[in-house]
Amino acid sequence: MELSVIIPVFNEEETIDELQEALFRNLRDLDRSWEVIFVDDGSRDSSPDKLEKIVDEDPEHFLLICLRRNFGQTAAIAAGIDHATGNIIVLMDADMQNDPADIPALLEKIDEGYDVVSGWRIQRKDKFFTRTLPSRIANGLISWVTNVKLHDYGCTLKAYRREVLTGFRLYGEMHRFIPAYAGYVGARIIEVPVKHHPRRFGKTNYGLERTLKVILDL
Ligand code: UDP
Ligand code: MG
Repeated sequence: MELSVIIPVFNEEETIDELQEALFRNLRDLDRSWEVIFVDDGSRDSSPDKLEKIVDEDPEHFLLICLRRNFGQTAAIAAGIDHATGNIIVLMDADMQNDPADIPALLEKIDEGYDVVSGWRIQRKDKFFTRTLPSRIANGLISWVTNVKLHDYGCTLKAYRREVLTGFRLYGEMHRFIPAYAGYVGARIIEVPVKHHPRRFGKTNYGLERTLKVILDL
């Protein structure tokens, strides 16, 4: 397998069909084999049923892992990575704030020889005081502490060469630090601007308290 796209899902029933269509549209013409791994993180809505239907219709491209309860985004991502068979791993969110149309551009940079291609939401569409501003401060802090300088650690949409993802266990809020771990093993990292859309359905699972958790993890 050349590409695994891993998507944690928690109560995202309104966007799942649109997400699947957008993924298919952007991945089908790639000149490489691909799979999408949905990880249902204990959703309490119809997300698991919708995902199951997608997998039944196209089991060659779509896989579903169901966690027994809600473990959080980092644990869901870790489960996805454990099951992924691709040489390239792309992580993204399920709520269509990330855009599958950006995936080809990330892959191009991997093909150029980079090990981590980090999505950077240049025009972020989240609330300024509770999300964008704290995140800017967190990015500065993480860059300073880890010495891996990135503008947008919090953007899930990133592509990784598989071998830089082994050798550490993700817990807490740590999926954000994956590029820093990769940096420690010598990964070549580049940032690429990606689109960002406002959340149209459901609501964010996070507020200011997450910044505190991220800092504790750091
Ligand atoms: N998510 C998850 N488990 C959780 C919380 C969130 O799998 O306990 C998923 C969620 O469905 C989405 C992604 O993680 O695909 C990012 O969550 P969210 O959109 O709430 O975060 P934000 O975009 O506000 O940072
Ligand atoms: Mg979101």
